[in-house]
Amino acid sequence: MTAPNETYPAQEIWFLTGSQDLYGDATLSQVADQSRRIADILDSHSEIRARIVWKPVLTDSESIRRLCQEANASADCTGLIVWMHTFSPAKMWIAGLSVLDRPLLHLHTQFNLSLPWSSIDMDFMNLNQAAHGDREFAHVGARLGVSRKIVAGHATDPRVIERIAAWSRAAAGRQASRTLRLARFGDNMRDVAVTEGDKVEAERVFGFSVNSYAVNDLVAVVDSVPDKEVAELAADYGELYDLVPILRPDGPRHDSLLYAARLELGLRTFLTEGGFTAFTTNFEDLGGLRQLPGIAVQRLMADGYGFGAEGDWKTSALLRTIKVMGLGQPGGTTFMEDYTYHLGPGTPRILGAHMLEVCPSVAAARPHCEIHPLSIGGREDPVRLIFDAAPGPALVVGLCDLGDRFRLTANAVDVVAPSEPLPHLPVARAVWKPRPSLAESAESWLLAGAPHHTVLSSAVDIEALNDYAAMTDVELLTIDENTTVNQLAKEIRWNSAYYRLAQAL
Ligand code: MN
Repeated sequence: MTAPNETYPAQEIWFLTGSQDLYGDATLSQVADQSRRIADILDSHSEIRARIVWKPVLTDSESIRRLCQEANASADCTGLIVWMHTFSPAKMWIAGLSVLDRPLLHLHTQFNLSLPWSSIDMDFMNLNQAAHGDREFAHVGARLGVSRKIVAGHATDPRVIERIAAWSRAAAGRQASRTLRLARFGDNMRDVAVTEGDKVEAERVFGFSVNSYAVNDLVAVVDSVPDKEVAELAADYGELYDLVPILRPDGPRHDSLLYAARLELGLRTFLTEGGFTAFTTNFEDLGGLRQLPGIAVQRLMADGYGFGAEGDWKTSALLRTIKVMGLGQPGGTTFMEDYTYHLGPGTPRILGAHMLEVCPSVAAARPHCEIHPLSIGGREDPVRLIFDAAPGPALVVGLCDLGDRFRLTANAVDVVAPSEPLPHLPVARAVWKPRPSLAESAESWLLAGAPHHTVLSSAVDIEALNDYAAMTDVELLTIDENTTVNQLAKEIRWNSAYYRLAQAL
């Protein structure tokens, strides 16, 4: 069985160059040559999360429309980069941009870095006029209300590459979300509000589909896993983690380790066979499962699956999306829940964790594999991985359904080491200092009505998340070092007006 990250499809970003026939063949072939070299520079940067595919120079409305339709139909094409090397009268872009269903990045650049002051003549001026060619294109983009990221600067500028790379990661996340199938074992935790939501609207906005299965459908698969495979995986656990003695082959709780391994293999089989890349569980509905899945969920998350506890399909889909955005980046991405606070002395901070399910991709060191009682769920003691999250900057992101729209909320945080060892805490955890401060972060988060289940990621930055929100047309509230509660309260009011007005009748 292959994990979703390994099977993630090849991606292409198409590089489009606009011009017009007026210049003649000689100039157009120079335009083609130079734009191909810009595309090659972009393609040489592995941090841009796709192959850059150069397309022949566009000089008329019909070929632009056809290319946009090809992009829409291509399973590999995650987005388009456009550049007007010369002047491209922009009425020719209206038909294409009107049908385009792929993220768009307008690269406002030029081939030469410096002006050739001593030799510049009108031939040079005619060939290198992106300064106004791109303004003409951008006018039509603005007039049509086309959502696009604009990046200005030379292709050799590291900041330009960084910004294109962030957008390419967002585009990969968008593609993953639009092909995501989520398996929900059981329904929502009873009476919980924020984990509920409109799954039909979610499929319209994000593209992912959410479908429920009886947990005993999973139990049947779990029970049919061959003993030999179970024994092999349990042996792997012993190699990969610091296994507490009672779980070892000669220990009194080894049977619990075997069942945990069986649970992982059953879940993997169910998800692989159904083509699912995300799932949820609910401790209130465990059917014939002997343990609440702990290490199984943790290891599936580490392989790229989205997960949400208590039936939380929104956080599960968001986790999968952000994991795809962070693929190949340093750091990790996990399901998380704000659990309890340290309000002083010293800088206030948050202790985040869950009952069991924190992804080891954020671990600071080799996890311990342990077994402890869990009063919730009413089943046998679950096996889990225990670790502290690695220190460093990260984002905490939540997705909620406000009834008339979805809202993303992100808090820039700094994960820190626990102030002291936590010998009696039997779950994986992260400790972080939220920006700008715990009080302002919490007041802002509460004002936004943002959820207690979140995605914590040290692999994805705010620029990529912002690009993702823009390309899905979903509100994103950012809480960071520049946030004041009063300003955020105003932003929430403005956004409420904007998003209602922006909805078609
Ligand atoms: Mn929870």
